Amino acid sequence: MKFKFWGVRGSIPTPGPRTVKYGGNTTCIEVNNASNDLLVLDAGTGIFALAQTLLGRAPIVAHILITHTHWDHIQGLPFFLPLLSAQNQIHLYGGMDPVTQTGIERALTAQLQYSYFPIIETQLKAKVHYHTVRPGETLQIGSTLVTPTVLNHPVLNFGYRLDDSDGSSLFFTGDYETPSNPYAADDADYASNQQFIEAKLREVHAAMHGVDALIIDSSYTDAEYAKKTGWGHGTYSAAIRLARQVQARKLFLTHHEPTRSDQELETIFQEVLAKAGAVDFEIYLAREGVDYIPT
Ligand SMILES: [Zn+2]
Ligand SMILES: [Zn+2]
Repeated sequence: MKFKFWGVRGSIPTPGPRTVKYGGNTTCIEVNNASNDLLVLDAGTGIFALAQTLLGRAPIVAHILITHTHWDHIQGLPFFLPLLSAQNQIHLYGGMDPVTQTGIERALTAQLQYSYFPIIETQLKAKVHYHTVRPGETLQIGSTLVTPTVLNHPVLNFGYRLDDSDGSSLFFTGDYETPSNPYAADDADYASNQQFIEAKLREVHAAMHGVDALIIDSSYTDAEYAKKTGWGHGTYSAAIRLARQVQARKLFLTHHEPTRSDQELETIFQEVLAKAGAVDFEIYLAREGVDYIPT
């Protein structure tokens, strides 16, 4: 299995000279597995650039796994050009929205309306298959076993673990904030909440355990996080702590904060590395366009 980031940015695309090195597209990761299947993790604006590499290739079978339907994870989907060719098969995977009780088809139907886009869903020529993902229910895509785990975020968000038959593995969080107890230690509800959080953390750690490549939402520094607690995003220090706890081999910090320039990212990265001290895994800033091998 190998993978490539096509979008590494959180919230909103940030093109321009300040982000040219790491990239300004929102979240999208291409994965090619041992059985030569194309898997795509999230469909932020980066998926448009990925689609350009597929032109002239037909028929295309693509498996697009959506962590959650916040804009920065789906806004490139209407621009995934293989949707426009009748020879292609597009599989779209994602969770059931607990509020509207709609499956992942909502990611396309919401965007493909004439008010917002010149093409409507019924005009897509490719065969689109929608798959509802449920917690702990594994999916087999060619040589890859996909295991979804619900992660803490303001909406339902699945982290996906991919285990390939070649022995390599990766886990992508989508957006993730380590849960914390909202009650004070002397509050009557503190203990039951703490129990719930600790059980959830055990489940999350088990889902990530021993993974080769751990790709984590690392939006904030600790100082920034103090003002953004509860927004649903992680920190560099939480990512490093998690990689240590689950014994990952490589840690990829992604979902870069949109105002962050390349230079600011690298300055923060050096501080993060210095603070982390000795670790027995490699740490990378996710960068668009680079081929990575998980192991
Ligand atoms: Zn996001
Ligand atoms: Zn989100």
